[in-house]
Amino acid sequence: MIPRGFEYFAPRSLDEAISLLQKLGPEVKILSGGQSLIPMMKLRLASPQSIIDINRIPALDYISELDGALKIGALARESDLENSPLIKSRCPILVDTTIVIADPLIRNQATVCGNLAHGDPANDHPATMLALGAVIVATGPGGVREIPIESFFTGLFSTALEPEEILTEIRIPAPPPSSGGAYLKLERKVGDYATAGVAVQVILRAG
Ligand SMILES: Cc1cc2nc3c(=O)[nH]c(=O)nc-3n(C[C@H](O)[C@H](O)[C@H](O)COP(=O)(O)OP(=O)(O)OC[C@H]3O[C@@H](n4cnc5c(N)ncnc54)[C@H](O)[C@@H]3O)c2cc1C
Repeated sequence: MIPRGFEYFAPRSLDEAISLLQKLGPEVKILSGGQSLIPMMKLRLASPQSIIDINRIPALDYISELDGALKIGALARESDLENSPLIKSRCPILVDTTIVIADPLIRNQATVCGNLAHGDPANDHPATMLALGAVIVATGPGGVREIPIESFFTGLFSTALEPEEILTEIRIPAPPPSSGGAYLKLERKVGDYATAGVAVQVILRAG
């Protein structure tokens, strides 16, 4: 199907994106990877009046380790996670998780932050981020706030993000030595959404 008409904005900075969110009001959607939003618009399950495409804000595209945390910016794709030497060595449970999401074409576009912002309980990252004790960084007109992952998901397709906020970063406490984890999902066929997803992260202390 063809989506309803909408206005399209492509800001070049985070400040510009947030000003647009304030100006355009509640009938606006952020577009990151588009792998959930576009299908929903085509099915007319979502019909936003405006779309703010954040893909032209290069400052949001990073995976790094700083101040004791692994940081995943809003434009880091699933494939970036899959191919990141830092993630492979420091937090391989994230690779376990990303490689069971859909297929390589989708993983080249879909973002990790979008996976959480969408609030779909059949998505794969929520369980893993809960196991890792991640912190969600939300940026809005009032500045930056941190939301512990335990209080981020508020229901089906709903999160603690305010309408004028953008999920700008996922912060994961850097796993200490002698720690490890795994993610497994029950799926109807390879690449499907999770019927159930289970993540475990274990830290050994003093042996
Ligand atoms: C065929 C198919 C199979 C799939 N299989 C799986 C699967 O097995 N497991 C799985 O986990 N996922 C699966 N997905 C979903 C995919 O991982 C999505 O891409 C992901 O859920 C959303 O990420 P996105 O970057 O594409 O977000 P988008 O589609 O751009 O956005 C999704 C929603 O989140 C909001 N949003 C996005 N980014 C932000 C942000 N930074 N700040 C605030 N709001 C934001 C948007 O406004 C929108 O409401 C599949 C998708 C398809 C099309």
